[in-house]
Amino acid sequence: MRVLTIAAHPDDETLGAGGTISRLTRGGHEVWVCILTDGASARHDHLDQQKDCALRAGEVLGASQVTFAGFEDQRLDALPLIDVITPIDKCVAELQPQLVLTHFGQDVNQDHRVAFAATMVATRPVGSTSVERVMCYETPSSTEWAAPFSGNVFSPNVYVDIGSTLSVKLEAMRQYSRTFSGEVHAFPHPRSYQALEAIARCHGSASGLPAAERFMLVRSVHREGEPEHAA
Ligand SMILES: [Zn+2]
Repeated sequence: MRVLTIAAHPDDETLGAGGTISRLTRGGHEVWVCILTDGASARHDHLDQQKDCALRAGEVLGASQVTFAGFEDQRLDALPLIDVITPIDKCVAELQPQLVLTHFGQDVNQDHRVAFAATMVATRPVGSTSVERVMCYETPSSTEWAAPFSGNVFSPNVYVDIGSTLSVKLEAMRQYSRTFSGEVHAFPHPRSYQALEAIARCHGSASGLPAAERFMLVRSVHREGEPEHAA
């Protein structure tokens, strides 16, 4: 199976789906990560350092490709949506993924919301698309910080066992502690190692697993004559 993960910022792919990506790549599946913004220009200009951390995290997770669209951090909503769709379209055309992972569309971070909207266009279910499934991941320090009103609340219906890859997720996150301003914070911030582990264990206990990442299934298309989804 081929899997495309869309991330608004370098670290979102690890925070939201790092354990799942590692599990998939260990199982022989091909995973690409498409990072839309530089993740830093709103705060500092050490952009190459940020990129290097993302490449190292991708390596830890076993991703075969990490691409950078290079948009400015915290400004995706200032762009015409078509500009954000284009790099995602390109990845979909090149990789021909069956599964696409993306942000939850009601996160408190506006770049995440735009990434979701652009993904929904790039993965629309036209007859020629390779995409069979689209799932949203949650991003600690954004998804749970949205106002808790109807429609804003992440409602997971897919739990992936990351019992054997939680340590890999944390190791990938460790790469992001080396960015100029450091993306890893002290507990109880959701982007601390302790919180990330606690969140994964909590989701695991809700689903009978040692540790889990949660997703919202947006669409699953089962075509005649094709095998059932592998993961
Ligand atoms: Zn983000």
